[in-house]
Amino acid sequence: MRLAVLTHPDPRLRTVAQPVTEFGAALSQLVDDLLETMYAARAIGLSATQVDVHQRVVVLDVSADGRAPQVYVNPQVLAQDTFGMVEESCMSVPGVLDSVRRATRLRVRAQDRDGVPFERRIEGMNAVCLLHEIDHLDGRLFVDRLSWLRRLRWRRLLGREPRASAA
Ligand code: ZN
Repeated sequence: MRLAVLTHPDPRLRTVAQPVTEFGAALSQLVDDLLETMYAARAIGLSATQVDVHQRVVVLDVSADGRAPQVYVNPQVLAQDTFGMVEESCMSVPGVLDSVRRATRLRVRAQDRDGVPFERRIEGMNAVCLLHEIDHLDGRLFVDRLSWLRRLRWRRLLGREPRASAA
C-alpha cells in the first residue's frame, strides 16, 4: 500500500524514532509499504519517519534499474570517512535541491526485516542516501545541514517552521 509522505514544516518530521524490537508481519508490511511508496515516487530512499511511523526503519534503492532494494532496521553507523559535497533532495522537502557535506564511505550495522543482524561497507550515493535517511530517524532534515546563506536561497520553500510544542 502506498503511504502518505509528511512534508516540511510538519512537526511530526521532528520526531526521534524508536528502535524496532518486534520483528514480524507488521514490520514486514511496513517495509513493503515503504518500498512501494519510494518506488512510486521514483525516490532512492525513504524512512519510516516520513510516513509518520516513528520506528527506526529505512529503505533504499540507488541502483539504475530500481531492482536492488535495501532494508535497514535499527541502522547504526560504525565508521565514516571520505567526506564530500553531494546534491540531495527529499520527498519531505519538495522543490529544494542543494549540496550537503557527508561521508561517502561507511561501515554500518543494522538488522534485516527478520531481525537478522548484518554489517556492511557501503560507499558513494548509497552511503550518502543512508545518512540522509538516518537523519530522518533522528528528526533531522537535509536542509538543517545547509548554511544560513544556502537556506536563504530556499526561504520561500522552507518558510518558517513552527516551534515544536511539548507533546
Ligand atoms: Zn529525505
